[in-house]
Amino acid sequence: MTSITVYDGAKTIGGNKIYINENGNGLFLDFGLNFKKYGLYFQEFLSSRGNRGIHDLLHLNLIPKLNIYRKDLIPSDTDISKFPKLDIKAILLSHAHMDHFGNIGLLNPQYPVILSPSTLMLLKGMLDCSGSMLGSDVAYYSLKHQKKDGRLLETEKNRDIGRNFICTKEISEEFVDFFKARVKKRATFEEGNITLLKDYPLDFKITGYDMDHSIFGATAYLISGETTIAYTGDFRLHGSKGKYSERFINEAKNVPVLIIEGTRTVKEDISESEDIVYENCRRTAEIAKGLIIADFSARNFERLETFQKIAEKVGRSLVIPSKDGYLLNALEKADGKDRIKDLCIFRGLKSTRRNWESLLLQDKPHIHNVDPKEISNDPEKYILCFSFFDMKNLLDIKPPSGTYIYSSSEAFEEESEFDFVRLKNWLKYFNFKIYGFDIVEEDGKEKPIFTKGFHASGHASKKDLTWAIDKIDPEIIIPVHTDNPEWFKENFDNIVLLEDGQTHKF
Ligand SMILES: [Zn+2]
Repeated sequence: MTSITVYDGAKTIGGNKIYINENGNGLFLDFGLNFKKYGLYFQEFLSSRGNRGIHDLLHLNLIPKLNIYRKDLIPSDTDISKFPKLDIKAILLSHAHMDHFGNIGLLNPQYPVILSPSTLMLLKGMLDCSGSMLGSDVAYYSLKHQKKDGRLLETEKNRDIGRNFICTKEISEEFVDFFKARVKKRATFEEGNITLLKDYPLDFKITGYDMDHSIFGATAYLISGETTIAYTGDFRLHGSKGKYSERFINEAKNVPVLIIEGTRTVKEDISESEDIVYENCRRTAEIAKGLIIADFSARNFERLETFQKIAEKVGRSLVIPSKDGYLLNALEKADGKDRIKDLCIFRGLKSTRRNWESLLLQDKPHIHNVDPKEISNDPEKYILCFSFFDMKNLLDIKPPSGTYIYSSSEAFEEESEFDFVRLKNWLKYFNFKIYGFDIVEEDGKEKPIFTKGFHASGHASKKDLTWAIDKIDPEIIIPVHTDNPEWFKENFDNIVLLEDGQTHKF
C-alpha cells in the first residue's frame, strides 16, 4: 500500500513537506520553511529563538508534530517522544530555495538528503557566507546542548556536524574538497558522507531530472516502488533551460501519481520569457547614461547570465557582490563552468576580510576586485548588481546620476512594499532614472507598481501547467505550492486536494 501525506504546503506557496510511505518505507519530498505560516507570528526583527531549539516552532504549529527532529534541539520542557515517529529513508530536495530546504536543518541527521550536486554546493556556499538561521543549516550545523535546567540550549563552540548527502549525478574531486572545506573556524568538523544515488541502496528507484527554475540545480523526481510518483518541485518552461522541464514531462508520461506545483494559478497568464527580459533590459541599458544598477534576486544565476550578456553588448563590466562571487565559485565545483572569469567583484569598504572571502581569492587569484572609488571615476564603465540592501554603498560611490533596472519579483506584502518606498528615496537622492517599478499613491498611501517585461517568473503559467498535465496524463494529481488549489479542481477531474496533515491512500 502507498500513502501520501502533505504535512505542509498543501494550500500555501512554499513550505513543501510531502511524505510518501510504501509498505513501511518512507521518503520526504522537500522540508521547507513555510513563509506564510512563519509570517503570522514572526518578521525580520522577531524570529523564533535559536536557544529554545524547536520549542517555538513546534508550539506555534510551524513544523509538524512528529518525532523526527535533532535531539540536540529539544529543550527539557519539550517532549516529542509522544508524536509519531516516521520511517524516513531519505529526504528528496528539489532545489536550494528556503521554502523547500529551510527546515531540513531541524531534522535528525540520520536521514540522508538526496539532491543535485549544484544544489549541495549552493547550500554549502550560502551557509559559509551568512549567519545561519536555525533550520537552514543543512550542509552542516553546530551542535547544541542543554544549559542549567535544560530549557535553554547553548551552541557547542567549535563542534560542527555534517549531514550525509546522496547526489543525483557524478561529482568531482574539487566538489568534495569544497564540501569538506572548513570555512568557519572550528576545532572539529565531523563531516558527513557523500554517496551517489546510483550506488545508494533504497527500496525505491529514484531518478532526478534537471528542471528550469529561477535557481540552478532545480530537480524533479520520478520515484518508483509499487507505484510511480512524479514530483515536479518548482518549474517553468519559459527560461533558458525550458527543454529540461519538457524532457522530465515526457519521461513522466502516464505515471499514476503526479505531485505538481501551482504557484501562478492565482493570476492571469502574461506572456513572459527570459528572452523578453533580455530584450527590455538591453534596450534600457543601451540608452542609459551614467552608472547602471541591475537589481535581481541574488541566486537567480540565469538572470545574472542575462545581465552579463547585456554588459558585453553595451561594453560595460558587470560587478557583483562578493557573496554572489562565492556562490558562483561553489556552483563551478558542481558543473565545471567558470562563470566568474569575465565578472568583477565589488569590494565595499569593510574593515575585515572574512574567511570565505579569502577562500574565494585563493581559488580565483586573478579575480578583478572593484573599489567604490574606481566606479566613481568611471561610472559609465559598469553595470552594478545591487539591491535595496546594498544602497548604503552608494554613499561611497556618490554617483551624480544613473539608471536603475528592477528585474525581480513584485512585492507581495505590505512590509516589503514599504522597502520600495525607501528604495525610491535612495534613488531619488542620487538622481537615478528607474525602470521596472515606480511608486504611486493609492488611498493616501504610497505603494509600488511594477512594469511588465523586466522580470520573468520562476514558475509555469496556467497554460504551461495545463500542457504538462495533459502530456503526463496521470491517474491522480496532487497540487502543492499554491494559494489556489481550486483552479486544479475546476480544470481537471482527477484532482486530490489535501489539507495540511491529510493522507491519501491507494
Ligand atoms: Zn523555488
